[in-house]
Amino acid sequence: MNLLEKLDAAAAARKAQLPTGLSAFGIPIEEIYSPTEARIGERRILLLGTNNYLGLSFAPECREAAHEAIDKEGTGTTGSRMANGNYSGHRALEMEFAEFYQCRSCIVFTTGYQANLGTISGLIGTGDVALIDGDSHASIYDGCILSGADIIRFRHNDMADLEKRLRRLGDRSKNTLIIVEGIYSMLGDQAPLAEIVNLKNAYSSTLLLDEAHSLGVLGETGQGLAEKTKLSSEVDFITGTFSKSLCGIGGYCVSNHPQLDQLRYVSHPYIFTASPSPATIAATRVALRLLRNGNKLREQLWRNARQLYSHLKMVGYQVGPEPGPVVATILGNPQQALALWNGLLENNIYVNLILPPAAPEGKSLVRCSVNAAHTSEQIEYVCQTFSKLYTSIIQ
Ligand code: PMP
Repeated sequence: MNLLEKLDAAAAARKAQLPTGLSAFGIPIEEIYSPTEARIGERRILLLGTNNYLGLSFAPECREAAHEAIDKEGTGTTGSRMANGNYSGHRALEMEFAEFYQCRSCIVFTTGYQANLGTISGLIGTGDVALIDGDSHASIYDGCILSGADIIRFRHNDMADLEKRLRRLGDRSKNTLIIVEGIYSMLGDQAPLAEIVNLKNAYSSTLLLDEAHSLGVLGETGQGLAEKTKLSSEVDFITGTFSKSLCGIGGYCVSNHPQLDQLRYVSHPYIFTASPSPATIAATRVALRLLRNGNKLREQLWRNARQLYSHLKMVGYQVGPEPGPVVATILGNPQQALALWNGLLENNIYVNLILPPAAPEGKSLVRCSVNAAHTSEQIEYVCQTFSKLYTSIIQ
């Protein structure tokens, strides 16, 4: 098979998985009305598949800051942080993140994906080891590949497996970066951070925690899992993204290790890409302030998450191990998942469909994400629709 024929074969396999109806992947959203409503085709739909956890995507303060930044600084920086793209806003946001986490320093990257790529490939290299949870996000896998380090996976959240693998590494455990996530994006469960910290200390390894889905969601001020578990000082590096609770685009790494700054000089995903636009930085700075003071939003978010999670469980759906803003239903096969996804869309509800090989262990998922802007009536409508579809699709 030549290169193009290989792509044809992959396209045919994809089409066979989704034979009819609207494609679930890359669905065109025609108009977006609010953090919870949009138009797809002729349907006004309820958005239940975005990562807009605090519902801040239309926050007037953030929009105003973005408009002002465009007027004052233009639409783009047209260059990297190392060249012409290092504005005062980028530096101020780094200081604000460092202060938020009470950390020595912070590096801002252009996306969350690049924050993982840049941090991981800057920290480890050939001869080192990346010891990562099997359910890790693609940006973690790709960062490890870019680094050239040996990649070892441990079973998702399985501490006995993590310990076994650390033990087997012998002296190499000192050159090992353990990587976990605050909330896992597939099943919505949290990493057992206390046990992970104990193991990393016992084996003198280094720990990186990706708080992409837990920023704004966990902890008293929304820092994430490290704050919730009071283990911030035990985590060596924290990465995260602006694209979920902060409703922008960009990423960061914070740390108390002074060596973090050296990453600016070695990390290709930091050096060789344009810096975030002035509007993005300005809106994110305001969103970070709203997030820090977002206790009411977090309370509403968790009320919504618990309402949906407990209802789906009660109806009989197989759900993830614990409640959270990501509420995944695990279906028996891809056809059932597709039928449920289509059934929800026909009832004007948009969620995410995740089919093998994207979902862990060959699972088929219909994944909902709730946010603080959903009203309890909207969540109730979703619950009733899931109940109706259980009878027609699952039973
Ligand atoms: N880490 C995790 C765990 C993620 O889920 C994502 C995005 N889905 C990223 C990093 C990358 O973030 P971004 O989309 O902002 O580049």
